[in-house]
Amino acid sequence: MNIHEYQAKELYRAYGVPTPNGFAAFSVAEAVEAAKKLPGPVWVVKAQIHAGGRGKGKFLEASAGDKGGVRLAKSIDEVKEFAEQMLGKTLVTVQTGNAGRVVNRLYIEDGSAIDRELYLSALVDRSTSRVAFIVSQAGGMNIEDVAHETPEKIHTLTIDPATGYQPFHGRKVAFALGLKGDQVKAAGKLVENLYRMVVEKDMSLLEINPLVVTKDGKLICLDGKMNFDSNALYRHPEIVELRDLGEEDQTEIEASKHDLAFVKLDGNIGCLVNGAGLAMATMDIIKLYGAEPANFLDVGGGASKEKVREAFKIILADPSVKGILVNIFGGIMRCDIIAEGVIAAAREMDIKVPLVVRLEGTNVDLGKKILKESGLKIIPADDLADAAKKITDELKQVA
Ligand code: ADP
Ligand code: MG
Repeated sequence: MNIHEYQAKELYRAYGVPTPNGFAAFSVAEAVEAAKKLPGPVWVVKAQIHAGGRGKGKFLEASAGDKGGVRLAKSIDEVKEFAEQMLGKTLVTVQTGNAGRVVNRLYIEDGSAIDRELYLSALVDRSTSRVAFIVSQAGGMNIEDVAHETPEKIHTLTIDPATGYQPFHGRKVAFALGLKGDQVKAAGKLVENLYRMVVEKDMSLLEINPLVVTKDGKLICLDGKMNFDSNALYRHPEIVELRDLGEEDQTEIEASKHDLAFVKLDGNIGCLVNGAGLAMATMDIIKLYGAEPANFLDVGGGASKEKVREAFKIILADPSVKGILVNIFGGIMRCDIIAEGVIAAAREMDIKVPLVVRLEGTNVDLGKKILKESGLKIIPADDLADAAKKITDELKQVA
């Protein structure tokens, strides 16, 4: 789960992590009120969407101006002007896709006099089973490009959970970032507090780009991207409260209501699978046969007929789906239940795209018999490769 920058900055404050003062605003009047509470002479008006690259982003509407989603205002009048231009408009950034995101919230904050822009992120590193800190002096710009072109500018350090944060971690980060004097101490405090925050709040990712050194030598976090492990949200109701459903994919929300693990993808073959591993393998084999999956969908181990029907609804609601591949292994789940779910869905929703079904496992013969006797146009498949081949062949015929 992601949260907005202004919410991330509240968390910074709670953990003693330095960040400029600022206030969220949902209307132009609130933006002006917020600006009045800050000293100036520079205010920053920042569009709040769950995507980065806002500074270099572009609005779809000409009336929003061409200065992107992060703007420096020199007066309260300018704050008002920028707020009017941005609110309700659609911001497109490298991370939003072409459709962009509507800006419904702003963050008005103190402008900082920046000397250097640095990069710092922390994430759960699966290969070492530790929290890794990744830092670079090349902050503020696209860190993926830095990683690609000049990987030597990126430094990684992991913290052993058995010892937790140790002062040498802070010093290592400080030296990697070229910090001197008092800044080394400040960096130690920063890393210590960030580590505590990441662990206590079960974050999977924290990205601060940029972390800046100000003209008067202070270290301040100017941006904040936070990602929380959804499996741990049950113990953080205060984080769940920050959820902004307007920023999430509507189908993914619908899927989560029915306890279906669903991720929307770019291809045109809808997949309905049980088990995350089998779902991954199914996506792989679709790609192997030259097509692209439209989604990842795991109906889970013990899905009911109703759940299968809901899953179908979600897949069919996606206009880019040109074919469906159902791949079920009946372990806990029985193939006859799946077959009934598929038929109920097909009858109810009048499926117009080719449907390939591969069943294996418990009650497979009964399942196949039910499908066959249904009179519906369902293409049966015997194994994974056969299923992938059949659905991709069907798509070629349509094209
Ligand atoms: P994004 O990463 O979405 O573009 P940022 O919050 O990183 O948004 O802002 C983009 C750039 O705007 C930063 O790299 C920094 O140069 C500038 N900026 C952001 N906040 C402030 C601030 N409070 N004071 C001065 N400059 C800022
Ligand atoms: Mg940024």
